[in-house]
Amino acid sequence: MSQVEANFNVAKLRREFPQLRKRIGNLPLCYFDSAATVQKPRIVVDELNHCLQKSYANVHRAAHSLATEATSRFEAARAEVAEFIRGEAKECIFTKGTTDAINLVAQSWGNLHVQEGDEILLTQAEHHANIVPWQLLAQRTGAKIVFAKVDEWGCLDVADWLSKLGANTKLVAFGHASNVTGAVNPVAALTEAAKSNGSKVLIDGAQAVAHLSVDVHAIGCDFYVFSGHKLYGPNGIGVLWGRYPVLCEMPAVNGGGEMISEVTEDGFTTQLPPLRFEPGTPAWPEACALAVAIQWLNIQRSEGLASYEFELYGYLRLRLAELSGFRVLGADQPNVGIASLVSDDAVQDLGFFLDQQGIAVRVGHHCAMPLMKALGVPGTLRISLAAYNTRAEIDHLIECLAQWEQQVS
Ligand code: PLP
Repeated sequence: MSQVEANFNVAKLRREFPQLRKRIGNLPLCYFDSAATVQKPRIVVDELNHCLQKSYANVHRAAHSLATEATSRFEAARAEVAEFIRGEAKECIFTKGTTDAINLVAQSWGNLHVQEGDEILLTQAEHHANIVPWQLLAQRTGAKIVFAKVDEWGCLDVADWLSKLGANTKLVAFGHASNVTGAVNPVAALTEAAKSNGSKVLIDGAQAVAHLSVDVHAIGCDFYVFSGHKLYGPNGIGVLWGRYPVLCEMPAVNGGGEMISEVTEDGFTTQLPPLRFEPGTPAWPEACALAVAIQWLNIQRSEGLASYEFELYGYLRLRLAELSGFRVLGADQPNVGIASLVSDDAVQDLGFFLDQQGIAVRVGHHCAMPLMKALGVPGTLRISLAAYNTRAEIDHLIECLAQWEQQVS
């Protein structure tokens, strides 16, 4: 056992995740699908229960004590989320998730600013959630979508991206880290280049926030989005962080209660952000549970999680290199703990085989069809790590992959 492993008590941490004790058939579950969604520590589920059973009322409305308590919990959660990415509470809009947040920016900021002839620069490595909302915007406005290329390992070709940043580039949108390769993009450098070009910058942080410390002001972007369920929090809650002056000029896209300051028979006036973009009853218990997930993650980080994850990923890559039948995507750049395997054999069958061994991985295009096309593969087998994975689980995975190689050779 290394010093890092000795310092970080993963056995204790695993006891906080009831679902990790589940058995698949008669085998223990090895959960390597955290890039899709992360298992929840008990404390997060407890918070959700507490909000629903002990503090429940609607927020922002009514004068009674329970509503005031619910509202202050909700707004404290917003402050916690803001602090997590070094932003301010008024800059954080609660959404349903990353997809919802990107659609909100495309519909609000996009409809206001993007016109025919403008370009939106994406990368071939984006998740569909960071492609389709822009394609819809292009359909509405006549703008053009431009894709920067990836290299043979699925990583962004920065030179190609820079060459495509031009006079017409109104906005650039890219992932902080890829959900297929796990490769971390040089977000501050890309943002600096885009800002000097006069383009707005949206960063999809869905895969990054659980693994990297994020400081939105240090990065310098205009929008940063992420989902709660990939951050040890619940489903149905996500965050759009935006630079406040940019948010203030954006029009509402959905109307209803809470987002207005006045409604008359002739029309309405809106609240300032963030409320302008949060019509209706929000998922406030989920927001509170997300705040607790963040507090939990902060504790794990103070106990050495980053070093533990770094070593564990290094071990995974080392052991994968023992196998001959797979190419592992992602180059020698920082990684959020994802290894995507490309094989001549059908990865779908391998996924089923691994499931029979109690191992949960993801196979397919991972909602990144343009990336699969660029790489010339139908899909990959994706292994993704989180705080609760262990070397023993990786050993079991490698044994099973080696067994599969023998069977098909
Ligand atoms: N962006 C990336 C990089 C993702 O990995 C995902 C989900 O896998 C999304 C966006 C969409 O997230 P959600 O489904 O939570 O909206």
